[in-house]
Amino acid sequence: MDAPEARAHELDAADPLADVRDAFLPPDPGVVAYLDGNSLGRPPRVAAEALERFVGEEWGGRLIRGWDEGWMELPTALGDRLGRTVLGAAPGQVVLGDSTSVLLYKLARAAVAARPGRRVVVLDAGDFPTDRYVLEGIAAERELGLRWLDSAPDAGPELAEIEAALDADVALLVLSHVAYRSAQIADAAAITRAAQAAGALVLWDLSHSAGVVPVALDAWAADLAVGCTYKYLNGGPGAPAFAYVRSEHADALCQPVWGWMGREDVFGMGPGYSPTPGIRSFLSGTPPILALVPLAAGLGLIEAAGIDALRAKSVALTEWAIELFDAWLAPRGVALASPRDAARRGGHVTVRRAGFAELLGPLRARGVIPDYRAPDGLRLGLSPLTTSFAEVHAGLAVLRELLG
Ligand SMILES: *Cc1c(COP(=O)(O)O)cnc(C)c1O
Repeated sequence: MDAPEARAHELDAADPLADVRDAFLPPDPGVVAYLDGNSLGRPPRVAAEALERFVGEEWGGRLIRGWDEGWMELPTALGDRLGRTVLGAAPGQVVLGDSTSVLLYKLARAAVAARPGRRVVVLDAGDFPTDRYVLEGIAAERELGLRWLDSAPDAGPELAEIEAALDADVALLVLSHVAYRSAQIADAAAITRAAQAAGALVLWDLSHSAGVVPVALDAWAADLAVGCTYKYLNGGPGAPAFAYVRSEHADALCQPVWGWMGREDVFGMGPGYSPTPGIRSFLSGTPPILALVPLAAGLGLIEAAGIDALRAKSVALTEWAIELFDAWLAPRGVALASPRDAARRGGHVTVRRAGFAELLGPLRARGVIPDYRAPDGLRLGLSPLTTSFAEVHAGLAVLRELLG
């Protein structure tokens, strides 16, 4: 055992969340290091049990009666739970359903319609592709201008740059709380204040922060937010996304997909659409109950751990990855593309080197599964519920070997 390996075992032995790993189903035995929990979280054992029970007892046993016995309220009940556990949001402001892309569309479209005199949306040229594409679509549809922030790939948009882009033409600012490339954490409270001072609404994408970095939507006075539940929230592939609409906006904003589930008196089936009061008006069609079962089951693990303990372990994991990077990868021509300051760094660490794309196959053949982001970034996604320090060591040891 080399010194770093012994150190990894010490870190695991001292980790208060070490046992939580056993609450997850193991990957197939060929997996040496799963370093992509920020793209698809691993399945909690309770998710498998809950799905089986749901199909047999609720769907199979209760049939259509299930809608009156909790399914109808599930999108908002689970939203409240998510709000309390990971989003810093009081009840009545969070709903689950659709994908992050679709919820981005619904919220951004509602926001620009609520600022009719303003013709510009500010967004990050380095943001996740779907965020850019959805806003391009809205700009084309509504004949709005897009003002792009040009952030560095190893960082993210900074307050001064954002302030310079804000003026009386700006209807909406759309940003990721944690940059998907670098993991840089944005100063959400200060940015929200700056945008609101300029008269704009702010829409936060929390896909890379929910469940790993503390979020305080109410305290930030955020207007709107969306995010994924299949990353750090372990909801399963394609699990429904969440939307947050600050309570004072819920009745003032009108989302564009007018389905029966967002209408008042759903089963009245009457003529014409008029939205139901509150956050439910952001629903469109039948809620994806089956797809919410794993998330609802697995959230107990996050509630039990607590977001502060998750953040503490996440910081320790990224510090450990950077320590190994300094010792093993930097001397082999690899660059760090994430902030060194832990306070500004989210749950993943990105390293860069020309030719990394060719290493993906060999890494996978050796049981190491990282994430890759073109053109040259290897993203190490470290999930505090499921990643061990020994796993980070094992994965980076293989990478070091492959680099020669
Ligand atoms: C993962 C991710 C998404 C994914 O959106 P889907 O609609 O679920 O495909 C969106 N935005 C950001 C910032 C992401 O990281």
